[in-house]
Amino acid sequence: MKKTKTLGWILCGALSSLGCAGFGGVPVDPAGRPALSPDPKPATSATRAVHDRFERRLPFEDDRDFELAEKGLLARKDALQIPTDNKESSVLAWDLTKYGFIDGESPDSVNPSLWRQAKLNKIHGLFEVVDGIYQVRGYDLSNISFIAGKTGWIVLDPLITIEAARAALALVNETLGERPVVAVLYSHSHVDHFGGVRGVTTSEAVEAGRVRIVASEGFSHHAVSENVVAGNVMTRRAGYMFGRLLEPGPTGRVDAGLGKTTSVGRVSMIAPTDIIAQTGTKLTIDGIEIVFQNTPNAEAPAEMMFYFPHRKAFYAAEEANAVLHNLYTLRGAQVRSGADWARWLDEAIDLFGDDFEVVFGGHHWPRWGREEGTAYLASQRDLYKYIHDQTLHLANLGLTPLEIADRIRLPESLATEWFNRGYYGTVNHNSKATYQLYLGFFDGNPANLDPHPPVEVGRRYVELAGGADAMLVHARNAYDDGDYRWVAEVLKHLVFSDPDNDQARWLQADALEQLGYQAESGPWRNFYLTGAQELRQEALELDAIASTNSPDVLAAMDSSMIFDFLAVSLDGEKAADAEITLDLEFTDRSERWLLEISRGVLRYHATRRVEEPTLAMRISRADFMAVLSGAKSMPKLLAKGDAELDGGVLRLAKFGRLFDKFSPNFEIVKP
Ligand SMILES: [Zn+2]
Repeated sequence: MKKTKTLGWILCGALSSLGCAGFGGVPVDPAGRPALSPDPKPATSATRAVHDRFERRLPFEDDRDFELAEKGLLARKDALQIPTDNKESSVLAWDLTKYGFIDGESPDSVNPSLWRQAKLNKIHGLFEVVDGIYQVRGYDLSNISFIAGKTGWIVLDPLITIEAARAALALVNETLGERPVVAVLYSHSHVDHFGGVRGVTTSEAVEAGRVRIVASEGFSHHAVSENVVAGNVMTRRAGYMFGRLLEPGPTGRVDAGLGKTTSVGRVSMIAPTDIIAQTGTKLTIDGIEIVFQNTPNAEAPAEMMFYFPHRKAFYAAEEANAVLHNLYTLRGAQVRSGADWARWLDEAIDLFGDDFEVVFGGHHWPRWGREEGTAYLASQRDLYKYIHDQTLHLANLGLTPLEIADRIRLPESLATEWFNRGYYGTVNHNSKATYQLYLGFFDGNPANLDPHPPVEVGRRYVELAGGADAMLVHARNAYDDGDYRWVAEVLKHLVFSDPDNDQARWLQADALEQLGYQAESGPWRNFYLTGAQELRQEALELDAIASTNSPDVLAAMDSSMIFDFLAVSLDGEKAADAEITLDLEFTDRSERWLLEISRGVLRYHATRRVEEPTLAMRISRADFMAVLSGAKSMPKLLAKGDAELDGGVLRLAKFGRLFDKFSPNFEIVKP
């Protein structure tokens, strides 16, 4: 687009000493463009051009996934809404009625490929996979599956919340006849595969031996540990990733790629009664034989896939999906190995590929037939292996992470399979993650060893650009050229050097918004649009973030995990000169611990004791955790006699002041 000098430009030159502001504080743009505003914007022609390229390149005429996703439908509720158990709250646990807009044609504000996935992920109901094997899909981010045993249901992966799992079980019993639940299998340690367990069974039933709970080795540890020491920052970032602060709609939340979104409500956990430690292990439950493949450290640290010989059905857990999954999840997590992931899928083909007639899993829809099922597993295998191998190939040629992400392209044979598209993970960020797995954060260029932090570097870049107004004009030109990535790069410096600059925040929001509209990945879209929203709003409104802390999960934590979290909460600067020992007895668990603080570090020991500790405390672990979370007050517990303390409350208060209480209300797109 050619830019001509206008009256605004001339005026601006004359008024430059006044900061290029026109009458009434409305900025005069040098190109005479309309004033910037905090309002959402429609898709631009540059964004529509990106969408056109997706339309041209991808086989939209292939609608086989829609056939598969509808196949075997047995029951469907219209207007699916699931209330939470909290009668005071008007928030619903699950509400698909908000996504009716997805029935229409792809709007300019959504990538057409993501729109297609959003339609597929909205298909819900009870489906027959094969005779005696059923799935409820579209009731949460994940699927819940039901295997008919001789007398009852074997339940696979009971969703995130009690509310969602209970609603799914009710649909199954209403449609297929009431049967008791006789077993629950958790395929892996992520909450969308166990959190709703109390919606399908009870601890009493498990303790009485009426229900078995089966999981792979390491499940209990990883189910509670993955999100503890970095839990607060992950919670904040997960809010971005799943678009929890966005309203569903064509310019807001559309889909998470892996599923529609996450349910809200009560999260639960019941410990496994049967642990699978080895591939080839067989169990017969309620007359149904199950053969297990143990597949740790790929999609999850503890995971297993399994095979039902009686119906020749293979359950791929979350290792084969109708998306490119994450080798790195944007909420933040340890990086997963694409090589290991590929190895497990390859092993699955060796073990079961000659036998199975259907592959089904914890997300998305099944693939029927040996040939199609094997081809699916093989293609997903090669997808992860390609990203893993070619990232290292390019790194060995000397390319750095940003260069690799820019260069790496899937072969057409992988890229044009719908189930390999980057709706959840992307080739871009999975390649950066693979680099990080092997080589860490540093790209080797010493200029990148110790750059200034964002505010400082921002201030200097603004100065280099000739001031905030000059930088804004430059960014606005880039915006008009459709170079939103460059706008984002330039304006992050201005926003961080001066977060009160409305113009900078609004233009940055406009650029992130277009990048969100362009994104094929649900999490990328959610990250961009949430960032845009927060740049436009005056204050954060984060109350809507649901906590995944649940009494079951907290109770299942080893005390050492609690102390690891406490150690991370310690303010090392404040504690630099502190010398404190705490003899801590958990009265409800017959545990006694010694906590020591010195040199800014908190250590804990199960066996060591000191003669005269600074403090000695007897308290139930449940109350101790309630104090940590702020739910209970220590002085009140002492006053009521629910806790005992030697050493005095003043010393205890001094101890308490050494710790920070984390809040997920920190800024991300602003300093
Ligand atoms: Zn999952």
